[in-house]
Amino acid sequence: MLDVDVSCTRGTFRLEAALRAEPGRVTAIVGPSGAGKSTLLRVVAGLESPVRGHVTVDGAAWTDAASATWRDPEHRAVGWVPQDLALFPHLSVRDNVAFGVPGPREDRRVRAEALLERFAVGDLADRAVGTLSGGQRQRVALARALARDPRVLLLDEPLASLDPDTRARVRDELRESLVSLACVTLLVTHSPDEALRLGDDLLVLESGRVTQRGPVRSFADDTGAGWAAGFLRARPAER
Ligand code: ADP
Repeated sequence: MLDVDVSCTRGTFRLEAALRAEPGRVTAIVGPSGAGKSTLLRVVAGLESPVRGHVTVDGAAWTDAASATWRDPEHRAVGWVPQDLALFPHLSVRDNVAFGVPGPREDRRVRAEALLERFAVGDLADRAVGTLSGGQRQRVALARALARDPRVLLLDEPLASLDPDTRARVRDELRESLVSLACVTLLVTHSPDEALRLGDDLLVLESGRVTQRGPVRSFADDTGAGWAAGFLRARPAER
């Protein structure tokens, strides 16, 4: 269980957000640009230090302003898939994934190959990442994010760099991958389609505040109110 309740300032912006998320579920975080979605992920990852509150994972404090508890980012069991995927272009697929694995070289190789097999890209292990398709790159980025057995997986618009046709296909592949995960997943997206298809729960952030939350299913009929209703009504026709 991830339990976040923080106040965090970035320049003149203030995020005041609370969130609880269960392992094995995906929380889709949506809201207007500048609402604080990425800042919330950064707080969980330990890239922002809140002025108040805590980030707790399975009862262990990663951040707790009251007791001055702070765990550095590299000591948080977090997997991160950013918008541009941030793969290392000069490394092979295998080495990209092995990079995140702790331990001796041989163990890292074995673990990397097992993860690549799991996402059906094991045969690409020796390839340079620059030669992969968008969907293949996405799977490699996910394998790398999972290499350290994260308790929390952070996906910051992971499909944003794909063209629309590839995006629909990779989204469905990603959904299959996410179903099998035992960690808490937070997904930031600007796409109503992705929120509905990948999310179990929806959280709306507006101007640094949580304004709506609940199971995605409870937002899926077109009778809802608030920012989520307008957002979800903008959904394009089924692909
Ligand atoms: P979102 O992901 O919802 O688009 P962000 O979390 O990226 O929003 O940004 C929230 C707010 O934080 C922005 O409106 C901006 O004012 C502020 N902000 C973001 N990055 C910085 C920064 N590096 N320095 C100062 N303020 C920032």
